[in-house]
Amino acid sequence: MPELPEITVVARQMNEEITGKRIETIEAKQPKNLNMPISEFIRIAKGKTVESVVSRGKWIFIRLTNEHYMLVNRGMNADILYFTPNQRLPSKYQFKLTFHDKTGFTIQFQWFGYIHLVAEEKLAEHKLTGKLGISPTNRTFTLEHFEKLLANKKARIKNFLLNQKNIAGIGNVYIQDILFRAKLHPNRKISTLSEREVSDLYNAILSTLNHSIQLGGLAYEKDFYGQKGEFAGSEFLVGYKTGAPCPNCNTKIEKIKTGSTSSYICPKCQPL
Ligand SMILES: [Zn+2]
Repeated sequence: MPELPEITVVARQMNEEITGKRIETIEAKQPKNLNMPISEFIRIAKGKTVESVVSRGKWIFIRLTNEHYMLVNRGMNADILYFTPNQRLPSKYQFKLTFHDKTGFTIQFQWFGYIHLVAEEKLAEHKLTGKLGISPTNRTFTLEHFEKLLANKKARIKNFLLNQKNIAGIGNVYIQDILFRAKLHPNRKISTLSEREVSDLYNAILSTLNHSIQLGGLAYEKDFYGQKGEFAGSEFLVGYKTGAPCPNCNTKIEKIKTGSTSSYICPKCQPL
């Protein structure tokens, strides 16, 4: 499942490639991906120009000139692929957008995803993105901001970080190495964290996510040009490495149940 690094990589490429392009045709083969009838969707978006593309958590925000946003969520996984004129399109896709210069992109959902069109003034009310927390890639995500987020919270740290309303974009993939880097057990209660542990955790979030962004995201996820990322399994420190030695102390990495999710930890480096 794509998380913040994979979404960030695609959104940055889209911003470079399609900003300034005018939408000429829209094709949606699966009406349930949309939040309105296709005819309405086309009426609002057709002829409009892309102003910018940014990511927020696991969502891509495509801003159009008529103060509307096209919000794309890749769900469990989806290929969002750019095409140029005369290029062969993927055989199966649910959504296709073509620009005035005959370039465009297709979206092929593996399971299910969303393409919602939302007016800027209604953005805060949008059920799926209106309450999204801050993206760690946002410049306003400072240590001070993070400390304020954690202040007086009683949750366990892993649950808190996975909740998209607190911080948007971290899922069960990258959380593993984030907690390992910060030497925190997933079930640690936020109220027990020292100032030092909070700042270590803040740095761990940024270094883990930025490392993957630099590598173009996970090795099994495609970017806007169909290239796979270079963050392969070997890049993980403890994630998905049950039984392998901890890179710090050689203790065997364990897979444990934490609520509804699995966690990979070094029991010695991340005591409860
Ligand atoms: Zn260890």
